[in-house]
Amino acid sequence: MINFFTDLLAIFYPEVCPACGTLLSKDEKTICLSCRFLMPKTGYETVTDNPMARMFWGRTHLHAVSACYFFAKKGRVQHLIHDLKYKSNRDAGLFLGKEMAEEIKRSALYSEIDFIVPVPLHPKKIRIRGYNQSEILALGMREILPAPLSTDNLVRAIATDTQTKKSREARWRNVKDIFMMKNPEQFANKHILLIDDVITTGSTIEACANVLAAAPGIKISVAAAACAPG
Ligand SMILES: [Zn+2]
Repeated sequence: MINFFTDLLAIFYPEVCPACGTLLSKDEKTICLSCRFLMPKTGYETVTDNPMARMFWGRTHLHAVSACYFFAKKGRVQHLIHDLKYKSNRDAGLFLGKEMAEEIKRSALYSEIDFIVPVPLHPKKIRIRGYNQSEILALGMREILPAPLSTDNLVRAIATDTQTKKSREARWRNVKDIFMMKNPEQFANKHILLIDDVITTGSTIEACANVLAAAPGIKISVAAAACAPG
């Protein structure tokens, strides 16, 4: 009987793949099989001097930097992240987080992570959106990686305007002074994995890393769901 009702429900509210918009079959969970295979992975997690890591050279010191997928305008990855950010699709975020973790757990660069730290969202934005999308990614990652989640040490202080239509310089001014670390001792001599959804110019990560650097002996690595050219 339960199957009958869920099948009936699926006729009226069919589940759609958030990445490509096709109907999901009964065996497909969160995203469809072809998207699972077609979404372009970067392979950056094992390469020290990958293009994303190079972007931060001379700006801030990071141990390892990678993004799981390439982000293309109107592409599958963009649709998936859009669902996570604006349509409360928590499953999309958990899926992306698990994929991110599967990739980095195979890389020696990301060994012995002490804390997973999502890039903080301003409390005002959390009130509007209901959640921090990077924290959902981190929760997905924790299903694969054993490290604890830290959301109360690196925090955001001031709200910024939406970043999408600004030049790199304007974004930098915008994010420079908005993060703070409450207790540097907690991150002293630890390997911190910073989590973000999409990295474009890197200004948010740079600002976070510069604040985290106040913890003595800290090692900072970065994992994003996707990277896009700035
Ligand atoms: Zn699909």
